[in-house]
Amino acid sequence: MKALRTKGGNLLLEDVPRPKGSEALVRVLRSGICNTDLEIARGYAGFEGTLGHEFVGVVETAPDAPELLGKRVVGEINAGCGKCELCLAGDPRHCPDRTVLGIKGRDGAHAEYLTLPSQNLLIVPDNISNDAAAFVEPLGAAWGITERVNISPDTRVAVIGDGKLGLLSAMALSLASQNTVLIGKHRAKLEHVADYDIETHLTSDAPKMHNSFDVVVEASGAESGFAMALDLVKPKGSIVLKSTFHGTPTWEAWRVVVDEITVIGSRCGRFAPALDLLSEGKVRVDNLISDKLPLAEGLRAMELSARPGVLKVLLDMEV
Ligand SMILES: [Zn+2]
Ligand SMILES: [Zn+2]
Repeated sequence: MKALRTKGGNLLLEDVPRPKGSEALVRVLRSGICNTDLEIARGYAGFEGTLGHEFVGVVETAPDAPELLGKRVVGEINAGCGKCELCLAGDPRHCPDRTVLGIKGRDGAHAEYLTLPSQNLLIVPDNISNDAAAFVEPLGAAWGITERVNISPDTRVAVIGDGKLGLLSAMALSLASQNTVLIGKHRAKLEHVADYDIETHLTSDAPKMHNSFDVVVEASGAESGFAMALDLVKPKGSIVLKSTFHGTPTWEAWRVVVDEITVIGSRCGRFAPALDLLSEGKVRVDNLISDKLPLAEGLRAMELSARPGVLKVLLDMEV
């Protein structure tokens, strides 16, 4: 089968054997390219293998879960050891021995087939399209912010960043808070949330919103986002760090102390709430798709995805 892989700092479209083993075998229908894929391809996390962690597919074999056969599924990306305290409590996302689809110790979704433990798979309701289902992982990650910080209807929330992660985070959080503001550099991108109860601002407006927010989500993936988050958050408020930014940002740590700010990291969310949000039509993702290319054009898709102004690029394994 074809697979988009990274090896020794290179990105390659290779022919590799179809995966085997005792896990469920999934034929991939769509996969989504994430900024994390771009960072991994640049060497982040030292991962080598097939990239991709956002997908929808059809289960072809599932030795321990025959009820999944032929079903359209998405899959939680963290596979735990099944034995440690965290795994036994039902949350393998921080299992010290976990593998992560397309990120750590496990081949990913930019391929014709992948395998995952059957307990990671969730059946996709019929009213969610294949294209939309490819967003379950990033939407789960966006909604996952609500697992890490308390957001009620009157919480004042600012999301910094109008890329894929920022847009999805603002969309999701606007369902929890009636005071959600999205701040970005591109007027055209900010327009993607026009159908939601979200106030949008260009970053040039940020100085006017000094100390205004209970919760500030940094989703810009840029160093400047950290300092802006400190400017926007109220004393005793919370900053949620969402982008896997790989520089060493300089920010004035003393302000965290003086203003008693809580700094919170947020990575993966749960899939079930994201499926509900899509199925109920509360979040609509179609306007976030910039392009859809066959897997054979995976290298071009990655290159396209890195261009400024481009939102989600999907790989379509059905063409
Ligand atoms: Zn991702
Ligand atoms: Zn474990």
